[in-house]
Amino acid sequence: MSRYIYPDAIIATAGHVDHGKTTLVHALSGVWVARYSEEIKRAMTVKLGYITIGLYECQSMEGEFRIISDGLLKDGKCPNGDEPVLKRKVSILDVPGHEVLISTMISGISYIDAAMLVVDASMPVPQPQTEEHFTALTIMGLNKLIVAQNKLDLVSKEQALDNYKQIKRFLGNTWAKNSPIIPVSSLHRINIEAISSLIDQLVPPREVSSGDFRMLVLRSFNVNKPGTTPDKLIGGVLGGTVTKGSAKVGDEIEIRPGLKLGNKYEPIITKIVSIAIGNEYIEEARPGGLVGIGTELDPALTKADSLVGSVVGKPGTLPPVWSEMTLEFSRIEMPSNSSLKDVTFKPKDIVMIHVGSAAVMGIVKGFHGGKLDVTLRKAVSTEQSSKVVITKQVNNRWRIVGYGILKD
Ligand code: GDP
Ligand code: MG
Repeated sequence: MSRYIYPDAIIATAGHVDHGKTTLVHALSGVWVARYSEEIKRAMTVKLGYITIGLYECQSMEGEFRIISDGLLKDGKCPNGDEPVLKRKVSILDVPGHEVLISTMISGISYIDAAMLVVDASMPVPQPQTEEHFTALTIMGLNKLIVAQNKLDLVSKEQALDNYKQIKRFLGNTWAKNSPIIPVSSLHRINIEAISSLIDQLVPPREVSSGDFRMLVLRSFNVNKPGTTPDKLIGGVLGGTVTKGSAKVGDEIEIRPGLKLGNKYEPIITKIVSIAIGNEYIEEARPGGLVGIGTELDPALTKADSLVGSVVGKPGTLPPVWSEMTLEFSRIEMPSNSSLKDVTFKPKDIVMIHVGSAAVMGIVKGFHGGKLDVTLRKAVSTEQSSKVVITKQVNNRWRIVGYGILKD
């Protein structure tokens, strides 16, 4: 068996709906990420899609950008006929851009190394989710961004330059002010090698991490076809990202918060029976890729994303489970979100609380002296002092109103 090259970084898409995120991922990978029939019908990403791509060196290629990805190979060769040399692999997470799916976006980016902000060159900047996603990346403390100025085929040179200025103004004095802005056409695969080369240059391979194994669950599945007989049933599958440590096939794992029994949560204990990245089965799950873990669980427990937001670790190593939280609240200041300055919280207000890959509804109990007390509809497992992103409906739109530090 040839040695499996593990993906060593995770890069997420960001940006307004229809600006071309999924098309860019397709151009980079050669594969459509949205495999769910209802998504294809509606032509909109509604869930997190993820895919691992190879980055290849094309030694005699002309120009500055000689690192290309799978989607740019032609019959297995570099565009200039070179034999591609696989340099590394990275995982790409495709997030939905629609405003009602902001929670899905926030859950996805809780553990990424860089983002690709896709901006439609034919539209004014910023569009609402361009800004909302950028705010989320800012709260997460991200410091690596590649801007893909997309749909260049639809605009004149003047429009492109004007749009470039608007992007520059938008990034203003933020952490992302020096991010590369790359004009591309994802649909026509123009300049995509600049994106793949910049991913390689800007995003260093994540170092192998030590510590107890920890995984955030981003998707969970029942992979059995309807009507499978019990003896042929495959156990529940968890998809997610390993944040530290590693785990092997055969290891026992605990899942928190687990199952709700009355008012309490019982952790779920099971065993890893397989580990896969894409279609490749591997022996070890570790940080850098988006992995699927096959378990011995009844697939009814994992079907339809029911365990999204859970954390997985070796038994006895997971953080506490919270059904109520006191959060030290901070507002997030963005140039064009002045409408959020006066947002406050009253008892019984509904908020969404995002921590790790979990997004759960919370009911406000009180807000005094910058401390927000919330009761959660579903418990989450996380460390004290975790940073929690808070969204709330403002004028009928879900907005990121700030973040909180978990006190007790
Ligand atoms: P997403 O919502 O950001 O994931 O956007 P999609 O990737 O689904 O693209 C939305 C629409 O824009 C689709 O009809 C794409 O074919 C189209 N599109 C994406 N990239 C380009 C591009 O570079 N040029 C043109 N003309 N259309 C594009
Ligand atoms: Mg999409």
